[in-house]
Formats: sequence, C-alpha cells, structure tokens
Amino acid sequence: MTMSGTEENKKEQPTIALADRYMFPTYARFPICLVRGEGCRVWDEAGKSYLDFVGGIAVCALGHSSPLVARVLEEQSRKLVHVSNLYYTQPQTELAQLLVEHSFADRCFFCNSGAEANEAAIKLARRWAHEKYGPERYHIVSMANSFHGRTMATLSATGQAKIQKGYDPLLQGFKFVPFNDLEALSQAVDESVCAVIIEPIQGEGGVVVPARVYLEGVRRLCDERGALLIYDEVQVGMGRTGRLFAHEHFGVTPDIMSLAKALANGLPMGAMLAREALTPAFGPGSHATTFGGTPLVSAVARAVLTSILEDGWLDHCREVGDYFKGRLETLRGKYGFVKEVRGIGLIVGMELDVPGGPIVKACMDEGFLINCTQDKILRFVPPLIVKKEEIDQLVEALDRILGSVASPG
Ligand code: PLP
Repeated sequence: MTMSGTEENKKEQPTIALADRYMFPTYARFPICLVRGEGCRVWDEAGKSYLDFVGGIAVCALGHSSPLVARVLEEQSRKLVHVSNLYYTQPQTELAQLLVEHSFADRCFFCNSGAEANEAAIKLARRWAHEKYGPERYHIVSMANSFHGRTMATLSATGQAKIQKGYDPLLQGFKFVPFNDLEALSQAVDESVCAVIIEPIQGEGGVVVPARVYLEGVRRLCDERGALLIYDEVQVGMGRTGRLFAHEHFGVTPDIMSLAKALANGLPMGAMLAREALTPAFGPGSHATTFGGTPLVSAVARAVLTSILEDGWLDHCREVGDYFKGRLETLRGKYGFVKEVRGIGLIVGMELDVPGGPIVKACMDEGFLINCTQDKILRFVPPLIVKKEEIDQLVEALDRILGSVASPG
C-alpha cells in the first residue's frame, strides 16, 4: 500500500488529504477514513461499509459502538472522569479486584497502553532484582520476532531489527533467543538475568503458538535460576483465545503479566499484574502515571471484563474461532500457496507462500478489513462477538480473491 490515499479516495473522503498534509506519516495507512462503526461493521467517509476482522488490532472485543460501553461511559462521565492517583477511586479498585480474582496475580498497576504496561513490567523486574540480588542482575531475555511496544525500553525488548532501526543507543540489558527453543533459553538465562519476557502466542510475529512443554520448560528454568517470568498478554489476553488469558491454555503461570488492547474495548488502558512477592519492589514513589486507571476508563474496563466473563463470550469465541479455522482450512486444501492456518480462539493466522499485501487490499475493495503481518501471514483478530455468518461472508470473499491469485489474469 502507498502511504497516501489514492486520488479517487481523496476526492470522496476529504479527510485523507488533510491527514496526509498535517500528520507525521508514521503510519502506512490504507486510503479510507472511517467515520462510524456498529458491531463488526464500520463505514467510511464515502459511505462504504466493511466487515471488520481487524477490530482495532485485537482491541474492540465487544465490537464497535457497544451499547454497554456507551452506557457506562455516559454514566461515569457524569460522575467522575479523572482525579489524580493521589486519591483512591471505586472503579479502579473494583477493576483491580476483578482482575486479581480471575488471574494468578495479587496486585495491579494501571497505565495507558501496552508499551507502558511492559515498561512497568520491565521496571518492576529490574527493581525487584536490584533489591534481591544487587545491581548486576538486570538483563532480560526476550524472543526473536517478539513485539513489546515502541517506547525506548519496549523497542529495546522487541526482537525485530526493523523496529529498532535508527534508534541507537538502545536501552542496555536485553538478550534475544529464538522463540520455542528451550536449549537456547537455557544458555541465555545466567546470573545476569532478572527476567524472561514472552508473548504466550506471538501476535505481530505471525500468530505463532508455542508448545506447551516449551512454556513448562521456561517456567522451570526461571524457577531454577531465580529469574522472573513475564507474559506479554497485551494482544492475546482479555478473552481473545477463548480463555480470559492465553497462558491458561498452557497451564503455566507467570510472575508478571501485561495487558492492554481489549482491556477497555478501545479506550486507552494498560495494566501490569504481578504476584504478591514482588509488591515491596513497587512501593510509594517507585512508579506512576497521570492518566493510569482513571475512573472513566476503569469503569469501562470493569464493565467489559464483567461482560467477557459473564455473557458467554469466552465460549462463543472458542466456538466461532474453531469454526473460522475449519473454514480457512478448506481454503488451504484448495490453494497450494496457503501454507498453514493456526491460532487459538479468535487470533487466527493464515501463512501464505505469496505476499499478503495485495490480498488485504483486494479484501478491502470487497468490503472486508483484514491484516497482514510479517509480509506473508494474514492475521484475523475480529471482535469476539463476530457471528458465523460474518465469518462465512469473509471466507467466501477470500475464496474468490485467493482464486484470482491462483490464476492471475
Ligand atoms: N505487546 C504486544 C504483544 C502487542 O501486540 C502490542 C501492540 O501491538 C504492544 C505490546 C504495544 O502496545 P501499545 O501499542 O498499546 O503500546
């Protein structure tokens, strides 16, 4: 895709030209300007509608314009939007209690994004190790092809050269090993290492699901060597896999976990959760953020989490996720250049032998938003409320589009 909108789109959607004029071109945007959404459907400035299998990249779990989110936003915005974290608030406290009651964790810290949740995790691990072992033990082992964010610390923790390019010097103290390779990790976790950071399923890396024995081995290694295990569940947490947290599928719990994306269904919010033993390392004054866990976003997140847990969305996600993968498997049987279909619940990847960009573009032309990562892996992360009929519509369009790739012209 080109960075700026096509001439035709610019005429029909005047915002595109304005954005290209006034904003940094940090995003290679598609040439549509979205103005409205409802459920799994969004509309552009020219009135064309799209079925959305991107969902803000795994954010809008309950869909667009969720009536629940709208109601809570309205009620809470009339009560209290923001006060400083110098004071206690009810929504923030109740959200923390709910997250703790439904996870391995005992404590929460709230922030505004996935990168900030990982920043908090990195800072907590370093400070804990500093107090327990002294200043030498600050290394964090991360995975090749991982993605942890774009702040200086989190891009330093990200195992992708293209994301680090031009930002040297990076933050010191990160080592990288191949994902799903216990032997390599064993070599890397020495006495300089305070933590290992892993996505339980790599999202940006191409929907890569590790083996259960691998995560069990990672846990064992961390325990034997006195290092912490951090899970980055920013993309795969909050019900996306059909369990509240992706690591539940593997039965291996971490010491620290980061969340964001779907946490408040599109309002900016992140969270870092951890075990009680780490609490003393994050005492008063050790970490803070102005907007973290405002009453407004916390009230929304509390309602979203309650809905995910109580309204059957986890079961629904498992059911439609399996259905989706089954339907994509039939396409794999039909088209030789489809290498693999993988994922859990509603994070689904389809690896191709051909570039995915033109397929994403063709889908958009037909009224479907999908995403491509690592050039050749189509990634589908729709709202958890997506219906089988909507999946059918996408698969039928994909069938036509893949068919034209198979026999170009
Ligand atoms: N970690 C993972 C696994 C992610 O997928 C992302 C974003 O895609 C991040 C961290 C960064 O989150 P944010 O963009 O909210 O800073």
